[in-house]
Amino acid sequence: MVFGALAATPLRPAFAQAPPRRAILISFDGFSEQRVREYADSLSAPVIWSMFHDGVCAESVRPAFPSVTPVGHASIYTGAYGNVNGVSASSNGALPLQTTTILDYIDGFSARSLRAEPIWIAAARQGKSVFGHFPTQAPQPPGYEPVTVPSPALDSARARAVATLARPNIAVVNMYNDLVAPARVVRSPAEMSWAFGDEGDSLRARVRDDSTVVVELARDPRRAVIVHLAPTDTTTPRGRALARFFSDPLRVDLARGRRTFVYFRLFELSHDRSRLLLYVSEARVIQANRPEVAAAYDDAVHGVPGNGGGRPMERGELGPRVQQGGDGSAEYRYMETVELVMRQFMRGTEWGWRTYHPELATDYFPYPDEALHTFLGYADPGTPNVSNAARANAARMLKRAYTMIDMRLEQMRRLASSEPNTRLFVTGEHGMRPAWLTFKPNVVLRTAGILRADSAGKVDLAHTQAAATRGGWISVNRVGRKGGIVSADSVDAVLARVERVLRAARDSSGKPIVTAIFRAGTPAGDSLGIGGPTGGDLYIGVAPGYYWGPVATGPMVDPLAFPHGEHGFPSTDFDMHPLGCMLEAGGIGKRIGEIRSIDFAPSVAEWLRISPPADARGRAVWR
Ligand SMILES: [Zn+2]
Repeated sequence: MVFGALAATPLRPAFAQAPPRRAILISFDGFSEQRVREYADSLSAPVIWSMFHDGVCAESVRPAFPSVTPVGHASIYTGAYGNVNGVSASSNGALPLQTTTILDYIDGFSARSLRAEPIWIAAARQGKSVFGHFPTQAPQPPGYEPVTVPSPALDSARARAVATLARPNIAVVNMYNDLVAPARVVRSPAEMSWAFGDEGDSLRARVRDDSTVVVELARDPRRAVIVHLAPTDTTTPRGRALARFFSDPLRVDLARGRRTFVYFRLFELSHDRSRLLLYVSEARVIQANRPEVAAAYDDAVHGVPGNGGGRPMERGELGPRVQQGGDGSAEYRYMETVELVMRQFMRGTEWGWRTYHPELATDYFPYPDEALHTFLGYADPGTPNVSNAARANAARMLKRAYTMIDMRLEQMRRLASSEPNTRLFVTGEHGMRPAWLTFKPNVVLRTAGILRADSAGKVDLAHTQAAATRGGWISVNRVGRKGGIVSADSVDAVLARVERVLRAARDSSGKPIVTAIFRAGTPAGDSLGIGGPTGGDLYIGVAPGYYWGPVATGPMVDPLAFPHGEHGFPSTDFDMHPLGCMLEAGGIGKRIGEIRSIDFAPSVAEWLRISPPADARGRAVWR
């Protein structure tokens, strides 16, 4: 072999012309096959249905534990569970251990909470072109925070991530870190002016005539949008423009060079103009790994709301819900706000695919999660005290939500098939179950003398051996943590007592509320990914109908204000399992067994012929 000759010879045509391999990895929040099959069918969701036939789909995916959104996504992207990647909860355990208490926490969605390399950084580091659309723990580099003292290994991992994110071959955008204003509803002329605090200009709405409202910026009234009155849209979203009765975007410039875009929808306007129902979408700021990426995204897409109007609907601001005697309008109005979110997400996806022509695209969609939180509690046949009308309506709305998810999946399939050698990986990060009761482990621990709290429920750590935290687990208050009182040789005895009193908790019919207990630091616990520096010591499973919270006052069990869908339960519970499919052109559909969320990043890496993310523990399952 003569090297000079090789260098002068073009690569063999078969290689030179082989198109590069590409991968799209999309997570639909809360997307499980179980709920699809309950609330959709092959007519209402044909693309999802065909995925089950022509995709290579797992029987189910064992998610991260606890099965909550930031934890699940971190496990998908890093190929490791929270005990390794550092994201253990939405309210994630704080570091370093010696200066934080067991009750301190940081936001599990923040990049700061991540202590491992996600796939989009791993791929870009290895030279792939990458577009990341709303991944959790992004677009900043992972925090790689030390457990106790600074570590050169973590410092160099962080420096490597910083250098990779500065490269031109990676673009990552996210708006979930910067919420300027939540969605709101304006009901009367008295409410027609509102400010973004010290963030930027205030907005002013005025009724122009019988069927239009004008919304303008106070400082720059030339910047205004017209909002036309239109009846609630009950037609199927397929085959028509999405969110078609929403206004154009109103751009609002904010402090520190930021900007947001707000959309308006006029559902009602009374003849005397004294009452109206004007929905204002939530205002978020697009962040990106480089400023020019965020600016280009904003110029093309004009903002993406992170969620629909679920909260305004729950507060009754879109009209009475069916369970309260409503005619279904409130629910359809909410679904229009979902259309707006979906349309903007789809625009962003198209823009990223066209602009960056990525070899790896990661994408996200906040549904069905938000719709299941909103409707599953009412729709599920097991939930007590739901009227027939409310149950039927909730099932109808879930069917509609899955039709929209079907359209979003159709978009992803179209993009994947627009380039040869592209694999589409589809998953979610948890399932969903109905809940109508809340269980308070801290009330049990308090009654047993394991925890002390004042009448307002504030935990007194100086007299507390163990507590349920906002993370969803129970932590022993060890010496070595700030405020810790339990010595190392007493930890096992405390945990044994905690386990005993929790198992003894009974509902009104005498049945146990705590149905399973998982211990960190055991082989079983380690394989589920619980514990680790930012996790807890003991995790629980609960009986059907129960959710839980860290409140230390009042009765042990409280009813929820209204039934909802919930997740966060043990990853061994089947109803927490999302789906997992791989689709490719010409692929032959088949089923593979249960896989784990940590298998996605290694599978994507293997397909792209790169090394898996630096801290991955999963394995490639689609060969
Ligand atoms: Zn979620």
